[in-house]
Amino acid sequence: MTVSHPVDAAKGRVLIVGATGFIGQFVAEASLGAGRPTYLLARPLDINSSKAKTIKNLQDKGAIIINGVIDDQEFMEKILKENEIDIVISAVGGGNILNQLTLVRAIKAVGTIKRFLPSEFGHDVDRADPVEPGLTMYNEKRRVRRLIEDSGVHYTYICCNSIASWPYYDNTHPSEVIPPLDKFQIYGDGSVKAYFVAGSDIGKFTIKTVDDIRTLNKSVHFRPTCNFLNINELASLWEKKIGRILPRVTVTEDDLLAAAEENIIPQSIVASFTHDIFIKGCQVNFSIDGPNEVEASSLYPDESFRTVDECFNDYVMKIEDKCAEATADGITAQINVKCAPIRVQ
Ligand code: NDP
Repeated sequence: MTVSHPVDAAKGRVLIVGATGFIGQFVAEASLGAGRPTYLLARPLDINSSKAKTIKNLQDKGAIIINGVIDDQEFMEKILKENEIDIVISAVGGGNILNQLTLVRAIKAVGTIKRFLPSEFGHDVDRADPVEPGLTMYNEKRRVRRLIEDSGVHYTYICCNSIASWPYYDNTHPSEVIPPLDKFQIYGDGSVKAYFVAGSDIGKFTIKTVDDIRTLNKSVHFRPTCNFLNINELASLWEKKIGRILPRVTVTEDDLLAAAEENIIPQSIVASFTHDIFIKGCQVNFSIDGPNEVEASSLYPDESFRTVDECFNDYVMKIEDKCAEATADGITAQINVKCAPIRVQ
């Protein structure tokens, strides 16, 4: 059932770019859920595609859809003005980061945009130092940051760390995949910690920042203490959920570097980030104490983050649903071997 949220016209109008994408969907849902007037810029879509269904679903919840691309400055200036947009959030994917240079120029030319959130949604790209090919993406994100700052455009950078899921080293959207049911691949000795954030919380806290004066021209780091885990702890948590112990296979630093060096896009980019997170500790090797950085839980102490434990329950439910479907279809043997021992703790 689609629930349309009442729109609070007093709240600034938000334009979201990339709402058909992985991160953009969470942000769009959160904006609509917060009752913000929400505009979505979407590239023209095949009406029967799953992305068209995503857009229709968001439209049913109250989003206003505009068709177009950000790398057309004249068009962007026109729609920003005509729709009296206050806040622009971009969640374009890794292959389109530089398209945002044109968007920044349009925002600067219009002159009325109160805040721009570029497509970041990961690490602090001025601090993290992945090997190639991840480094190229970070260099592009850095270039967008420098143009924003040099143009005097008001911004917030969202550094939300890892999505709450099993961190597969070859998957750009790991939360779409159920954690392992056969064996764990443990990076290095599995002791380096990271912060895991549910997609819905990436959306929720991002939207909270957009007109918060405390986040103006700052990086917002998401460091929920409840989700500060290393990969050994993550594996143990998942084992508790499925009620059995799985073998652990070590993926060494050299294995990850070799996967990065293969330069298969996008998998090798994920391998380079995995190396940066779980070998080098890029999420934890600095403290947040600079004048231009704030932490999300400190800003919003009354708002809780979903725990990894809760997110793992969602996966168990997905497995149980799949098992129920398989049984109904008479496909029992292989899947039910996996289903039988699963118990939500
Ligand atoms: P996706 O590839 O899933 O989606 C990108 C979206 O941007 C799509 O909606 C796409 O439209 C749209 N888009 C791309 N170029 C243009 C353009 N020129 N004009 C208009 N729309 C455009 O991206 P992700 O969600 O994977 O990535 C978004 C950000 O999040 C990136 O910065 C990425 O690095 C980060 N990220 C962080 C993760 C984490 O764990 N912290 C995980 C994954 C991503 P269309 O549908 O037409 O293609």
